[in-house]
Amino acid sequence: MISGGDTKPRTMYDVIVVGAGFGGLAAAKILGKHASVLLIDRHNYHCFTPLLYQVATAGLEPEEIAQPVRRILSGNTFFLLAEVTKVDLAARKVITPEREIPYLYLILAPGSVTNYFGLRSVEEQAFGLKDLQEAVVLRNHILRQFEKATVEGDEQSRAAMLTFVIVGGGPTGVEMAGAVSELVAVLKRRDYRGVGLEDVRVILLEAADRLLLPFRPALSDTALQALRGKGVEVVLGAKLADATRGSVQLADGRVIHSHTVIWAAGVLGSPIQLEPEVLRRQSARIPVQPTLQLPDYPEVYIVGDLAFLEDDQGSPLPMMAPVAMEQGKAAAENILNDMKGKSLQPFRHRKRGMMATIGRTKAVAQIGFLSLRGFAAWVVWLVAHLMWLIGFRNKLIVLLAWAWDYFLYDRSIRVITDDEE
Ligand SMILES: Cc1cc2nc3c(=O)[nH]c(=O)nc-3n(C[C@H](O)[C@H](O)[C@H](O)COP(=O)(O)OP(=O)(O)OC[C@H]3O[C@@H](n4cnc5c(N)ncnc54)[C@H](O)[C@@H]3O)c2cc1C
Repeated sequence: MISGGDTKPRTMYDVIVVGAGFGGLAAAKILGKHASVLLIDRHNYHCFTPLLYQVATAGLEPEEIAQPVRRILSGNTFFLLAEVTKVDLAARKVITPEREIPYLYLILAPGSVTNYFGLRSVEEQAFGLKDLQEAVVLRNHILRQFEKATVEGDEQSRAAMLTFVIVGGGPTGVEMAGAVSELVAVLKRRDYRGVGLEDVRVILLEAADRLLLPFRPALSDTALQALRGKGVEVVLGAKLADATRGSVQLADGRVIHSHTVIWAAGVLGSPIQLEPEVLRRQSARIPVQPTLQLPDYPEVYIVGDLAFLEDDQGSPLPMMAPVAMEQGKAAAENILNDMKGKSLQPFRHRKRGMMATIGRTKAVAQIGFLSLRGFAAWVVWLVAHLMWLIGFRNKLIVLLAWAWDYFLYDRSIRVITDDEE
C-alpha cells in the first residue's frame, strides 16, 4: 500500500474517487483513514444540491451551500481539481486533459446531468438547476425580468417577462415554484411598490395527473393546495413540447408566453466516457453488482446517481443524496474489505423517507408510515437540512438567513451580479 503525506500529487494512489458530491465525499472520508486516495472533481467545492433552489430565488448565497473540498478532507487524501474526460477500464487509468492517472481501485461518483428528453429547443431556452453557476444565472435572470418589466411599454412583452414557468412537479419543481412565488411576493411588496406588477404569474407544469409522484396521493394533494394558496398556477397533465425565445408550447397546442422556463423535470446518469463502453439502463445509469462493483471490472465501483441497482422489490434505487452517501460508504468499506482479503458485502439501502418544502412554514414529509404536513413537516425539513449541510459556519449562516426570512418576510440577496444576458 502506498502511504505518505497529502500535500504533493503522486503518480499512483490506492484509490481514485471521481466526484466530490454526496457519494464520492462519503467514500473518500472513510478511505482516507486507511489508504492513499485521490479525489478528483471539476469544482473545488462540494455543493449541497437540495438547497440550490434557494440560491436561485435569492434566499441564500452560493457560498452558504458549498464547502471547499480541501477543507472537508483529512487523512491520506489528495485533491485534484480537474475534469475527468475518460476512464480507460482496461488500462486502469483515469484521464484528464493534463494527465493520465493509474489506479488500483476506482470509485466513480460523477452524479447526473439534466435530462431534457431530447427536446433540443427546450434545452436551448430553459434554465437548468444542477450546480451553483446555474443557480446564480437563474437568480440574475429572474431579478432582471422585473427591472426590464418596469420600463417595458408593450403589454404582451411585459407579461412574458413576468411569467415564470417551472417544468416538473417533483420535489425540486414544487420547492422551486413555492420559492419563486415567495420571491415575487417580496419583490412586489418591497422593491416594486406602485410599479403595477400585479400581473406576475408563476406556473408549474407537470405531465402526470398529480404532483410529487413518489409521495402518497394525499401528500400530493396537500402540496397542490399549498401551491395554489400561494398563487401558483399548477397545470397537471401538461407536457412541454417546444420552446422558443419568449414562449413555450405544450403537447396539446397551448402556448404560454414567458421568458423564464425553469427545467426541473428529470436527470440522466453522467455521460462520463468509459472505455470500453459499458451497458447503460434506465436514465442512462450503469448497472452495478449488489456489491456496487462494475461487472467485469471488480476494481471499479459506481455509486450515487450514476449507479443502477434495484431494491428487493425490483424498483431502481432513487437518485437521491442519502442513497449516494450510503453507497459511497458501502463502496469504501468493500474496498477496505478487499484490501484485507475479507469478503465483500452487498449494498442495502435503508429507506428514510422523503420531504419537500412548499415555501416558508409549509412542507410535506413521508417517513415510514408517517405522513407529515404543514408546519410540523417544515420543522422536520429544516432540522434535517441543517444537520445535513456541511460545515458549522454554513449551518449557522443558513439558520440566520432562514430566521431573517421567517420573521421579516425578506430575501436580502436581491442583487444582479452579471451583465445583460
Ligand atoms: C436541484 C436539486 C435538488 C435536489 N434535492 C434533493 C433533495 O432535496 N433530497 C435528496 O435526497 N436529493 C436531492 N437531489 C438529488 C441529489 O442531489 C443527488 O441524488 C445526489 O447529489 C447524487 O450524489 P452523487 O454523489 O451521485 O452526485 P453529486 O452529488 O451530483 O456529485 C457529483 C460530483 O461529480 C463532479 N463531476 C461530475 N462529472 C465530473 C467529471 N467528468 N470530472 C470531474 N468531476 C465531475 C461534480 O462536480 C460533482 O461535484 C437534488 C438534486 C438537484 C439537482
